[in-house]
Amino acid sequence: MSGDGDDQHLKPATRLVRGGRRKEWTGPVVNPPVWRGSTHLYDTDAERQAAGSNNADGQFFYGRRGAPTQWALAEALTQIEPGADGTVLYPSGVAAIAGVMLAVLKPGDRLLMTDNAYDPSRSMATGLLARLGVETSFFDPRDVEAFRAAVAGARAVWLEAPGSLTFEMCDVPLLAAIAREAGAVTMIDNTWASPLGFAGLEHGCDIVMMSLSKHVGGHSDLMMGSASAGKRWYAALRRVSHELGQVVSPDDAALAARGLRTMGVRLAAQTAAALRVAEWLEAQPQVARVLCPLLPSDPGHALWKRDFTGGCGLFAFVLASDDPAASARVADALALFGIGYSWGGFESLALPITPQSYRSCMPCPCGGAPALRLSIGLEDADDLIADLAAALALV
Ligand SMILES: *Cc1c(COP(=O)(O)O)cnc(C)c1O
Repeated sequence: MSGDGDDQHLKPATRLVRGGRRKEWTGPVVNPPVWRGSTHLYDTDAERQAAGSNNADGQFFYGRRGAPTQWALAEALTQIEPGADGTVLYPSGVAAIAGVMLAVLKPGDRLLMTDNAYDPSRSMATGLLARLGVETSFFDPRDVEAFRAAVAGARAVWLEAPGSLTFEMCDVPLLAAIAREAGAVTMIDNTWASPLGFAGLEHGCDIVMMSLSKHVGGHSDLMMGSASAGKRWYAALRRVSHELGQVVSPDDAALAARGLRTMGVRLAAQTAAALRVAEWLEAQPQVARVLCPLLPSDPGHALWKRDFTGGCGLFAFVLASDDPAASARVADALALFGIGYSWGGFESLALPITPQSYRSCMPCPCGGAPALRLSIGLEDADDLIADLAAALALV
């Protein structure tokens, strides 16, 4: 659904608050209400026939094409993604990855995927896409010359910055420009930064996807994904999503829209707290290395600073221990961090990780040492640091 051009001069925080709140969708209330419905009832059969199989955005035709609650969320996401003509919602982030891949790729195509991509993206390439006749090669996004050679003849490139688990940055605008010159489509998983932290389309990508289960939901109580693009790719994403029969529930869309309103302040607070915790961890003798582009000492910091306008609370650290059980010991000892998947909620999480099992060509910065990923929530950073200090004493 096309964004309201009138809001494009406003700052992101203001667009977050205003996005998708059209009077015809909200009626007299503030947020778009939960608008339930499958069947469109017509007064006469002539009216039904005149409506045809109306395919326009914003026209209620049948529940599978969404209704005002979903349209309002999609429009708000379009309004915060500079350069987007529309946004498609999916039942999860992984469903969004599939929707994007299937809109771009066909049998016989070659895909280049960054080696530090989210593990289910990798599995989709080596599973579903391989079965459909798409061949994938993984690449180290920091090796630009190797990328330039590999991209010749490829249909598409899948990026993620920073990468999952190990948080290496890459030069997205440069890689996207090289891909464009070679005639390849660039897709990016922008879940970590969200459009508030990184404007993917403005930096040369053709399609930006994210898991809304993380920052947009923000409260660890919903699953959803999205993909945004300019005119050409939005049309392709929308068509494939309709062909696949994908729709998100209006209840979840209303929750996601509610989460979106506070995403700016949550991300700012979580980024500041994450930087404090990461800096503290860097100084601990039990910690060998902190993997976090927010840190001035990180090899990806200069690129993050150049291209990004924000961050989030997610990063990892490597223990100075050769005991593989040390990461689980730390996670078990933490009182304020839950042990669990997902991230971006208001509550902190810790997760022992083994990134080396998800790499084909990039060296793992852990070198096989025990490591943990942290998602910093909205607790006081002093409390989180005290909790980590007590747990690290056990390493
Ligand atoms: C969680 C995640 C996804 C998938 O999102 P779900 O909503 O859990 O399906 C995709 N990409 C990244 C980087 C993620 O962390």
